[in-house]
Amino acid sequence: MADLDRSAVLSRARAAFLGLALGDALGATTEFMTPSEIRAQFKVHRQIVGGGWLHLKPGRVTDDTEMSLCVARALAAAEGWDLPAIADQFVAWMRGKPIDIGSTCRKGIRDYMLNGQLETPYNDGDAGNGALMRLLPTALFTLGDDPLLQRCAVEQAHLTHHHPLSDAACLCVGRMLHAALVGADRFALHAITRELTAQQPKFRFNDYQGHAGGYVVETLQTVFHYLFSTADFEECLIGVVNQGGDADTTGAIAGALAGAFYGEAALPRRWLRKLDPAVLEEIDGLIEPVIDLSPWALRLTTLPQEGAER
Ligand code: MN
Ligand code: MN
Repeated sequence: MADLDRSAVLSRARAAFLGLALGDALGATTEFMTPSEIRAQFKVHRQIVGGGWLHLKPGRVTDDTEMSLCVARALAAAEGWDLPAIADQFVAWMRGKPIDIGSTCRKGIRDYMLNGQLETPYNDGDAGNGALMRLLPTALFTLGDDPLLQRCAVEQAHLTHHHPLSDAACLCVGRMLHAALVGADRFALHAITRELTAQQPKFRFNDYQGHAGGYVVETLQTVFHYLFSTADFEECLIGVVNQGGDADTTGAIAGALAGAFYGEAALPRRWLRKLDPAVLEEIDGLIEPVIDLSPWALRLTTLPQEGAER
């Protein structure tokens, strides 16, 4: 695997976070629609136009991006892993009356507010995609350290979602993000999905049936189907959001993965121009502080330089 230098990794991390926001903003328009309803209204939905069931302004993002920003903000402010700091950001966000919030997230945040509970107990109904949709900052922070990813991905998930399918999905996508950020090819990414499907066969996606709901299995099948059957960022995201269902969240997850994989130059200019400028600015301010906390970045600064005197 070709290891990229610092500026190339920062650029891919930026593409991943912007990709997440673009997928959220693009997919919010078609959230909860069926593919045939989308076809009747748009032929193909390919522009950031807002609207949707939340009646959004074009370029406005939803909970997927907002909760991801909460995690990134907490990491940057605490300069490290601080679960209560992440939970406090979620509380502040919820108090600000977000435009959308999933019921499982709301319950987990409320339990933290009332009891200081940082790990929600196992729940059969927690196999939604709410922990996965906000995973990206945790993947950036743990870059270069798989055991750290395993611990942090599950801890951040269990703030609100405690289910083995959600945990497995978070770990798989975290590993794919780690690989893509340092320049892995699509074969390496596909191999990581096979580790998941070997362990949890429900996630198999080679016979994709078109279900794109908020169940984390359907969410990942949709994301993987389009990630591996398309050849660029835009085509991948257009495929995902035209599948409808939980389109903002499949869009956000696909956007993060495809952004990390294809890089900044692949993000469509016409979409970036529409993105809420406050979101773009906050993302730009958080990428470097979060990546610089990662074991990957710390190794860059502590390894002796090649050829240096010993
Ligand atoms: Mn959303
Ligand atoms: Mn959603």
